[in-house]
Amino acid sequence: MPRLGLREWFAVGRVIAHGDLLRTSSSLRLCQKFERGLARRLGARHTLAVNNGTAALITALQACRIGPGDEVLVSAYTWMASAAAVLHVGAVPVLVEIDQTLTMDIDDLAAKITPRARAIIPVHMNNRPCDMDRLLDIAAKHDLRVIEDACQAIGVRYKGRACGTIGDAGTFSFNQMKNMTCGEGGAVLTSDDLIYERAYCAHDMGVNFRKFAPHRTDQEFVGGNFRISEIEGAILNVQLSKLPGRMRAMRRRVAAMEPILKKAGLPIAPHNNPGEACSIVVTFDTEAEAIEFAENIGVRRLFDNSKHVFTKWTAILDGRMAHPRFDPWAWAEDVSPPSADECPRTLDLLSRSCAISPILQLPHPAAIVLAHRLAKRVPERKS
Ligand SMILES: *Cc1c(COP(=O)(O)O)cnc(C)c1O
Repeated sequence: MPRLGLREWFAVGRVIAHGDLLRTSSSLRLCQKFERGLARRLGARHTLAVNNGTAALITALQACRIGPGDEVLVSAYTWMASAAAVLHVGAVPVLVEIDQTLTMDIDDLAAKITPRARAIIPVHMNNRPCDMDRLLDIAAKHDLRVIEDACQAIGVRYKGRACGTIGDAGTFSFNQMKNMTCGEGGAVLTSDDLIYERAYCAHDMGVNFRKFAPHRTDQEFVGGNFRISEIEGAILNVQLSKLPGRMRAMRRRVAAMEPILKKAGLPIAPHNNPGEACSIVVTFDTEAEAIEFAENIGVRRLFDNSKHVFTKWTAILDGRMAHPRFDPWAWAEDVSPPSADECPRTLDLLSRSCAISPILQLPHPAAIVLAHRLAKRVPERKS
């Protein structure tokens, strides 16, 4: 979990002393400063801050004109929000298997594209980037929009580019569990002016009379309210300034821990940007080995992580929306709610894989100690 400190405290205090918490009227303009700072740092033309990662996904989908009748290819290993956001805009998710990198399997992606497919949501899970080169090739060939779910990968790079800036749009979350936080928050990144204008519209009631709104009256449509306040803006500016140091420290920890684990015989999962990995996952041959290894402090079996496993997305599996007539599956041509046996390879990989989880929190020496301790706890082969 990212740490908050005195600088965030003072930044919030300043907003309270100022008195105007609304980003649309405050003269401090802290949200705007954050948006510009994030866009510049990651290398995108536009950033729109929103109030959480789910809202960022919904905003990005609406901005990309995804809606009823559309199929969106979503990685089967993700937080439930990636699929739920698709349903919220009236489209249906089609789950795509993951491969050994624990991100979208590009061969399965290619196999699942139909003429109704409109977009792909690759998820950079656990600070692990997808194979974006191959994914973009396929997207271009089939004229599909790419909305990166980089909620768990802000600050992570793929072949020199920041996750979240590679597709048509990228989404981030700033909840307490992510690489940087303001409690609840999110952002949409894009370098496409029209996507940005539509995203702005979607997140602020569809209005464009605001001083800072991009002005293109023909793009108006009914939006929601996904704005953040200056309180979150103040915290995010401080957190953003800490992000590069935090990610550097994570990369250093991974680089130091991996050889220790590897030498002990732990099967480290492959990574799509190996030189700059910010996470360690080990994938055993059997589920029993993973269950045994997960008994160690600092280790979490991926299958045990609640709603990150699609078989636990009860409402989605049951096809239950808030209203029976708001039924994206009825509007789709040939897609039903996902079934529990939809992506067997994903379930198999998650059941055999463990993340060494506290890499973000631990100081460097403690991370090395953890690696040495885990190196002595390699499970016996059970195959
Ligand atoms: C956290 C997360 C989200 C949603 O973010 P919230 O801010 O909790 O709405 C979406 N996708 C993934 C992969 C996430 O980890």
